[in-house]
Amino acid sequence: MSELKFDKTKCADCQAVACLVKCQYIDLDRNTAKQEWQKVINGEDSFVLEACTTCYACEEYCPFENHPFYLIVERQEEKGILPAPRPIVTMWINQCQPVGKFMVGKIERKALSYCYLPQFNALVKGKLFNGIASSVIFGQEFFCNAVYLHYARTSVIKERLPKVLDNINKQGIKELVCLHDECYGTFTSLAPAYGIDVPFKPIHYFEYLYERLKEYKERIRPLNIKVAYQRNCSARLAPETDHFVDDIFSLIGAERLNREYDRENGLCCAEIFRMAKGPKLADEVQRRNIDDMVRVGAEYCVFNCPACWDSLADKVARKGIKPIHMIDLCKLAIGEEQSLKLPALTVEV
Ligand code: SF4
Ligand code: SF4
Repeated sequence: MSELKFDKTKCADCQAVACLVKCQYIDLDRNTAKQEWQKVINGEDSFVLEACTTCYACEEYCPFENHPFYLIVERQEEKGILPAPRPIVTMWINQCQPVGKFMVGKIERKALSYCYLPQFNALVKGKLFNGIASSVIFGQEFFCNAVYLHYARTSVIKERLPKVLDNINKQGIKELVCLHDECYGTFTSLAPAYGIDVPFKPIHYFEYLYERLKEYKERIRPLNIKVAYQRNCSARLAPETDHFVDDIFSLIGAERLNREYDRENGLCCAEIFRMAKGPKLADEVQRRNIDDMVRVGAEYCVFNCPACWDSLADKVARKGIKPIHMIDLCKLAIGEEQSLKLPALTVEV
C-alpha cells in the first residue's frame, strides 16, 4: 500500500511552523507548536491529534508542500483517534464503497466528473456545457474518497483511490473536468503525496468555466454585484486555483468583497465539526462567517462546493444574502437561469 511522502528534514529547518501556528482552531505559540509538531512526526501522543477539526488548512499553510494535514490523519488512524462517532465513520465507509457497476454518459476524450454528488445534475445545463454535457461520470466508482480525511481513514483512500483512477482510465478519458473541487485536490495533491499515478489530466472546473466564458464574451452582461466567496475545505488542497475565482469575477463584473474570512483566512462550512466537536463550535464558526458576509455588504454568497451549499445556503438566505453556486453565477452572466435553488419553503431552525 502507498506510503505518505513526508520530509521530516524540512520540518527540522522550519522555524515558523506555519502549519500549526496559523491554525484557526488550535492556539499555539511557535515554541509549543514546534514541540507538538515534533511529537506528531515521531508518532508520539500530541493533543493536536485530538484538537484538529480536520479543516485541511495546514496543507495550504505549509510553505514547503510537506503535507502536514495528511500526516495528522495518518497519526489519528494509527492511534485510533476518531474525529467523528464510529457509526458515522462506518456508514460513510460502507455507503461509498465501489460496487463494480456504474452508469456513464457518452464518454469522450474529455469528460465531466460529478464525483458522487447528484447536485451537478441540476447545475450542468446551458451553453457553458455545450459539447460536453453528456460526457459524464458519476457514482461511487468515481468517488474521489478524500472525505475520509475527515474520518481518520487514509487506509480507505489508499485502498480505493487506485481503483477509482483505474475506473476513470478504463473509460478512455484523457482530460477530466472536476466539478467537485475535492476531486481536483485529490488528483493533484493527495494522490501525488502517496505516490499514486494519475493517468489523465485533471482540470479544475474554475479553469474550465473561465475558458468557456471567454468563448461567450460577447454575451456577458456585467452583473455588478458584491459577493462573498465561501471557501471550502478542499480548496486548501489546491490553493493555486484560487486566482480563477478572481479571474472569473473580473470577467463577469462580480466584486469579491474583501472580508475577514476569505483567502488564507477562509472558514469552511464547519458542518463536519458538528459531529467531531459538537454543535457549539460548528454554530459559532458558521455565525462568524455569515456575520462577516453581512458586515461587508454581500448581496450574494458564491459557493464552490455543493456540500457547503447544503450546510450554509439556507442560513445565508435567512440573512438576506442570495446563495449561488459558482456554475450558476457564470450562467447568470451570460443570461441563463440559476439552476440550483433553495426550496420555496425552508424549515425554521
Ligand atoms: S509541515 Fe511544513 S510548516 Fe509544518 S513544520 Fe514542517 S515544513 Fe514547517
Ligand atoms: S487541519 Fe485545520 S484544525 Fe487541523 S491542524 Fe490543520 S489547520 Fe489546524
